[in-house]
Amino acid sequence: MRTALFPGSFDPFTLGHMDILRTALKLFDKVIVAVGYNSAKSGFFTPDVRVQIIKDAVAGMENVEVCSYQGLTVDFCKEKGAGCIIRGLRTTTDFEMESVISQANRKMAPEILSVFIPAGHEYSFISSTVVRDVLSNGGSARCFLPKNVDIDHYLQAREAGS
Ligand code: ADP
Repeated sequence: MRTALFPGSFDPFTLGHMDILRTALKLFDKVIVAVGYNSAKSGFFTPDVRVQIIKDAVAGMENVEVCSYQGLTVDFCKEKGAGCIIRGLRTTTDFEMESVISQANRKMAPEILSVFIPAGHEYSFISSTVVRDVLSNGGSARCFLPKNVDIDHYLQAREAGS
């Protein structure tokens, strides 16, 4: 069974991420979407909420697991039995950053391959940063997010908690 890890901050998971996930599912038997976080850095949504949003987004899809992790991505791949790391590429800047990260990962764990998937042209302008900006300013980010995600619910919970 070929398993890949699709790691990211996913703060929050967007239609762009969904497009990469759908492509990855054509290449692998199972894809683990993994929210990587650092306890010293707080995000817009908590890691648990980010996981829940992804679970809503992928509801009904087969061969997808959603979880979170801390620490090195290559170590988490080994823990999960994933032989590949999936990353999406939007721009040449993404490519430059991702190639540096993939070379470091390859040095640490040569058996784990990085697989880059180009962004679909209709999604390539979408970023979690833009979504967070829109949400922070009271705008509707629905057009950037998977349709199963009720982002207002998570926003209200976030505001109630802060
Ligand atoms: P990170 O902080 O690890 O870069 P992100 O959540 O921003 O986490 O992105 C996770 C992965 O998804 C990265 O490989 C990123 O390049 C990719 N990605 C983000 N947005 C898009 C998009 N609109 N289309 C394709 N890939 C994307």
